[in-house]
Amino acid sequence: MNRLCDLIDQKIDDGTFVPVVDAANSTMRQLGKFLVLFVYFISTFLAFTSFFIIIPYEQIYKPAWLLVILGICGFYFLLNIQYHYYKARTIPPVACPGEEGDAFCEKCNYWKSDRAHHCSVCDKCVLGMDHHCIWINQCVGSHNHRHFFLFVANLTLAAATIITAGYPSFSDHLFIETSPNTYCTTILENAPLQDIICDYDGFARTAVVFCYLLSGILFVMVGGLTLWNVYLISIGCTYIDYLKLTGSKKKLSARKRLNKGLKANWKNFLGLRRNRTFFRCVILPTALPPVKYESLNSRPDAFDVV
Ligand SMILES: [Zn+2]
Ligand SMILES: [Zn+2]
Repeated sequence: MNRLCDLIDQKIDDGTFVPVVDAANSTMRQLGKFLVLFVYFISTFLAFTSFFIIIPYEQIYKPAWLLVILGICGFYFLLNIQYHYYKARTIPPVACPGEEGDAFCEKCNYWKSDRAHHCSVCDKCVLGMDHHCIWINQCVGSHNHRHFFLFVANLTLAAATIITAGYPSFSDHLFIETSPNTYCTTILENAPLQDIICDYDGFARTAVVFCYLLSGILFVMVGGLTLWNVYLISIGCTYIDYLKLTGSKKKLSARKRLNKGLKANWKNFLGLRRNRTFFRCVILPTALPPVKYESLNSRPDAFDVV
């Protein structure tokens, strides 16, 4: 076993695996482009099914005022999901941060600060790196972490709303043989696309069942990711910080130094500084002006980079 480990170490040292690692990273980047399109496709499908099949069908079970509220909430979630996803995907995290005297990154051939980590897929050092996300095809780090978090949080809430409010639709369309009604067997007053949708045999049923099950999967997986982020933000560190600073007492005390307290950590993360309000930074889909790395050291708050 030891000989095998030695052999692997030797192969790593002499660069035998470099082409394999490069090919894997290149594949990740190409796959990421495809997954971005997949996210747009899935979110469009969920929105279409919710607005044009589930909400109109739910008029059998729910009062009009509740459907109006659900429609408004759905539109709000959709707007936030699309906005924050676009921002998380297109705002690059601060790259190559560091100055002489910091640790040296051999791959970038440049200095990197304590809070930076080299991402082999993006092939650069990223400040405040949390992880490389294949779904946005870049790193989650300083500047786009807030958008990433608000994207996953809104997606979780949207999935929870579909699961809660759409259950009668799901149940009627899943057990179609014993259902009193379905979208295509009932004349619905407020279903603008009913004729077109019901022209395609089985489409409404497939869409409702698939939309509901997908929402369940998203709620568990993206909800878990959201909760994990809530924990990390509450203790003031990123996932990379957490991995790097776990184990020895020295590492744990270094991690404690990053923790400025629950309230301060969240205010810093969400950008609630200089009279910015919760309404502006969290409720409204807004971007905050990015801070250039060169000007970070002159700022009162060294972590003012989200
Ligand atoms: Zn680097
Ligand atoms: Zn990356």
